[in-house]
Amino acid sequence: MDLTVISTYRCDSRCSMCHIWKHPTLPKDEVTPDDLVKLPDGIDNLNITGGEPTLRHDLLNLVEVLYPKAKTLEISSNGLHAQRIEPIIRKYPNVKVRFSLEALGERNDAIRGEKGGFATKTAGLRRLREAGGTDLGFATVIQDDNLDQILPLYEMSRKEGFEFATSALHNAFQFHKSDNVPYDRVATAKALRGLIAEMMKSRSVKNWFRAYMNLGLMHKVLGRDRLIPCTAATDFVFVDPWGDVFACNVRPDLLMGNIREAAWDQIWTSEAAATIRDQVGSCSQNCWMVTTARTAMRSPWISSVPKLEPLLWVLENKARLALGMDIRVDERIDHLPAIAAPKRVFYMNANIRRVPTTAAERDYTRFGTYFNR
Ligand code: SF4
Repeated sequence: MDLTVISTYRCDSRCSMCHIWKHPTLPKDEVTPDDLVKLPDGIDNLNITGGEPTLRHDLLNLVEVLYPKAKTLEISSNGLHAQRIEPIIRKYPNVKVRFSLEALGERNDAIRGEKGGFATKTAGLRRLREAGGTDLGFATVIQDDNLDQILPLYEMSRKEGFEFATSALHNAFQFHKSDNVPYDRVATAKALRGLIAEMMKSRSVKNWFRAYMNLGLMHKVLGRDRLIPCTAATDFVFVDPWGDVFACNVRPDLLMGNIREAAWDQIWTSEAAATIRDQVGSCSQNCWMVTTARTAMRSPWISSVPKLEPLLWVLENKARLALGMDIRVDERIDHLPAIAAPKRVFYMNANIRRVPTTAAERDYTRFGTYFNR
């Protein structure tokens, strides 16, 4: 099983595609190391994210509790505070770190509302490498505002020896956004096609399966069905800053329990959990997020091995490349009409809304606009 801990909803970026920063949690409410001790052992990928996890002064304590529980422990960060991750890397060099980066230079800073963000995070990742980090990389949300930046970002990461992970715009209750759709889905799909081709040409096996992940993103952008059915609540859950356990971060109605109120086994074997697994089976959201898609791509029996579908796709397309043929992706994308969508607004230097004080405000922070759509 994979698990994500949303350690806080506080964030000091001001992203155009995620408005968590407008709805921060109170530090006194956030899950503590003592709460997280209750999570099960034997997790495959355990991701500590936010909001921005480095705003938690006890991040090292969280890592100390969670590191022994996971084969791979990951910190997803905006990358503005590498100095706070450095002690963690010195102690646990194989902790995986991904810094969010949307473009080269000032374009990143505009999209993410970060003054000097590009320079800070590239220097920060190098700093973690010097500290001994072994699994470092950037993570990019592919969107209309950075389509021409995807290949340069991939190239820069490759040259520096960093990993390059991608996702596509999506709406989720925790983002407090409902307009995260491509302005131009055809251009977005074509950018993904270019990245898929480059990743398949690389010598990295990881990149070949990332290419398949990007194929899934292309399907999502084009409104096609998921490549592999979702396994949230069975192979993946996420724990929010209040200790609530959700099947995924898109649907707040898939709430399985709370680690402060019940033991893990109770939550996992409850009737509510069984009902939620049924709901996941018939979910029509058709999302393809890194967390749940990566989990769905792996064998349920041997987690280091991919499922047959991605494996066959990779083998077929490596063979096509060897024979001088193009990668097999959907050729129809060249003929699809674009759909108009609202453009996103940039929030450079925007102020944080005051923290929630009433129950209604707290619920809004917790569940976003999902129930008001
Ligand atoms: S497909 Fe449905 S259940 Fe699965 S992650 Fe997406 S919204 Fe959640």
